[in-house]
Amino acid sequence: MASRHRSIRTEGVILRRRDFGEKDRLLTIFTRKMGRVGVIAKGVRNPQSKKSGHVEMFMRSSLLIAKGRNLHILTQAELIDAYGSLRESLVGIGYGSYVVELLDAFTYEEGSNLPLYKLLLNTLERLNEGRSPDVVLRYYELHLLDHVGFRPQLFRCVECEKEIVEEDQFFSGVLGGVVCPGCAGRLTDSRYRPITSQALKYARHFQRSPYPDLAGLQIPGRIKPELENVMGYYLTSMLESELRTPEVMGRIKANLVVRKEGERRTAD
Ligand SMILES: [Zn+2]
Repeated sequence: MASRHRSIRTEGVILRRRDFGEKDRLLTIFTRKMGRVGVIAKGVRNPQSKKSGHVEMFMRSSLLIAKGRNLHILTQAELIDAYGSLRESLVGIGYGSYVVELLDAFTYEEGSNLPLYKLLLNTLERLNEGRSPDVVLRYYELHLLDHVGFRPQLFRCVECEKEIVEEDQFFSGVLGGVVCPGCAGRLTDSRYRPITSQALKYARHFQRSPYPDLAGLQIPGRIKPELENVMGYYLTSMLESELRTPEVMGRIKANLVVRKEGERRTAD
């Protein structure tokens, strides 16, 4: 009977989980071999289940998946990395959840994407090692956008295509990048916002540099919130206009609030 299902051994990171029936869970997992998949984990809410404790949010696990016609079944799961340091604080859990929920929001079908999988693992590892979240997360956001085809244009005006000169600019989620001050004055769509030349310089640096070049970067205090807000604005614009998933956005925003509150507490 085994021939009815083709089993695949791979590994993946849990993006989402939802209770199903009495003892089961539906999981969304980003796997190395299949990309994003939905599976049912039978009996996993039973504490005696061998799978329980191996498939919680943002855990990396080795998996055996039986491919079904309609639904895949998770037959084995063994933890590879729980990113334990990240789980020790509410802020850390907020960061980990944000990372997987953003990926969940920007991917919507099966299909291997190894560079994106590696970006996901590296991001969770960097956060777990205590690297600067401002650097790790901005890098993650800009490179995730690259991998899913929503790379913002940061070097030319998206309206007139002229090269951006070093002065304060505008940024449009709808148009997908920077709008020069001349064009911004003529835009009838009000959905754009200012961006300082300094924040733009950092965003470009993040977009075109490999992570090792950024690892020691100190972002000036006043640029950090601006960059975070501009990226948050761009990501939600993309989700609103392209994917229309207000429910997912709501969860992402809720996580951002958790992170901010945690940061405020840490700063006290
Ligand atoms: Zn222009």
